Amino acid sequence: MGRAKAITSIILIQFILLHVTKSQQGFEESSAARTLKQESHDTHEVHCSRERSRAAWQIIDDYLMPFVEEEGYQISTDCRLHPDNDLFRDQERHKIHLDVNEWRCGYCKKSFRAERFLDQHFDNRHYNLLNVNQSKCLADLCGALHCDFVINSNLLKAKCNPAAAARNRHLCESLANSCFPISQGPSARRLHELFLRQFCDAHTCSGKAKPFPRGGKRHEARNPSAKTSVTSWTESKTFIVVRKMIKR
Ligand SMILES: [Zn+2]
Repeated sequence: MGRAKAITSIILIQFILLHVTKSQQGFEESSAARTLKQESHDTHEVHCSRERSRAAWQIIDDYLMPFVEEEGYQISTDCRLHPDNDLFRDQERHKIHLDVNEWRCGYCKKSFRAERFLDQHFDNRHYNLLNVNQSKCLADLCGALHCDFVINSNLLKAKCNPAAAARNRHLCESLANSCFPISQGPSARRLHELFLRQFCDAHTCSGKAKPFPRGGKRHEARNPSAKTSVTSWTESKTFIVVRKMIKR
């Protein structure tokens, strides 16, 4: 299965899952959205980068969630990596990637030729659906999560700033502590340890440690040095079933 198809399928699955949960929580969410719309009548400026939030989410999904799922661990909403703390998560889940040049809005079904046009559409038409309840910006965690390594690996060749590396390491360790408190048992302890190795060790100017040494579940091509240490997801079968359902 090609990468584009796999991505399409993942988006479709997310969309379906969300649709199910949404219909269960419909009333509460729509009233919250209305309140937000009234409050942000004229100005709906959001000081949080969608692109960097997306990169941060992709990193969490690729390099952390496989291990969290394997442990059967529930990340608390107090942890900033929880999906509820991503301003753009709901909109991103409403992206339907039908074909290379066809993106559809999951809210109003309008189609677009490229993802960036769908992003603009979300910004213009569905800003009231942004998850601003927590006012948490996932992109703020980019320093700790190595977004630049994933977005543009050329930046790695830039001179390392020891003060910035120390700051990122501190943020990284505080995420490990708040998301996987070691007092919460063996799973939390193992994930705490994994988080430090996977994300925090590389915040140094020594150049020895690389991000994500424990590998991830998908997109191995992006980081060829990473070895998959988690057994592959129940991938293809699930994807095919969902794709067939959609085509009907
Ligand atoms: Zn729309």
